[in-house]
Amino acid sequence: MSEKPYRVLLYYQYVHIEDPAEFAAEHKEFCTELGLMGRILVASEGINGTVSGTIEQTDKYMEKMKNDPRFADMIFKIDEAEGHAFKKMKVRARPELVTLRLEDDVNPLEMTGRYLSPSEFREQMEKEDTVLLDARNDYEYDLGHFRGAVRPDIENFRDLPDWVRENKEMLDGKKIITYCTGGIRCEKFSGWLKKEGFEDVAQLHGGIVTYGKDPEVQGELWDGQLYVFDERIAVPVNQKEHVVVGKDYYTGEPCERYVNCANPACNKKILSSEENEHKYLRSCSHECRVHPNNRYIPEHGLTEEEVQERLKAIGEEYLQVK
Ligand SMILES: [Zn+2]
Repeated sequence: MSEKPYRVLLYYQYVHIEDPAEFAAEHKEFCTELGLMGRILVASEGINGTVSGTIEQTDKYMEKMKNDPRFADMIFKIDEAEGHAFKKMKVRARPELVTLRLEDDVNPLEMTGRYLSPSEFREQMEKEDTVLLDARNDYEYDLGHFRGAVRPDIENFRDLPDWVRENKEMLDGKKIITYCTGGIRCEKFSGWLKKEGFEDVAQLHGGIVTYGKDPEVQGELWDGQLYVFDERIAVPVNQKEHVVVGKDYYTGEPCERYVNCANPACNKKILSSEENEHKYLRSCSHECRVHPNNRYIPEHGLTEEEVQERLKAIGEEYLQVK
């Protein structure tokens, strides 16, 4: 097996951290000295990180973490990579590891959904009276998801509890199984579901990342790709087949390429082919296309006349750009 020179580590641990700000400052120094890049969040409830580095750097990082009794049991999900997946090393102290902003917070160490291994999850997915609930955001779902999963139309995780309350009848009396990228969001979300009164709640242990690497299930019944929060953006999950579920924002054609709307005030994630990116000035709407801060136009050095031509070509009337 040919090993790639870099790795991306994804990990979290719910555990009490006494002084998150102090921990974050020291941890940043340590990571920077090692030469790692990435994003790590520290809260009094634990740690959540994605970092990239060489095999040697990531080995040293994991060894050091495992020597700390607080993180001795932490599971690292390891992806091979050709290079760094981040440009900077950020370690931040935050009030929460995953932003739910619950009026009455849930401690996953005290209350969480039943853990399902990848093969248990694979089996449960196809059982009756089971609702397969995606605990991620809409743009993550749109790039890839488990076949038949419910898509909450939320842009932010913190909106998920409200969505559940508004769609209660869909979940009442059902066996609920939830999943997310690496498992951290489900730890809290499934705990919240139980607190909310849902009795049969389970979660995919280790998340989609673990499911895709599992030698038995090999990512089966996953369609599309997995959205990840680093420069890779999309990674494969299903080792047996690749069904594209992403749809081009403009034409609806199969597409797995994300771009951000060129209007910085919007920044919406759009699935778009390269051709349509240029055709539509990488913008989600007419308003964004003609927005005075549109980034696409200066990036490509378009004159007002050229902008006008592009707009005409897609049947839009020209508005003063500047
Ligand atoms: Zn936009």
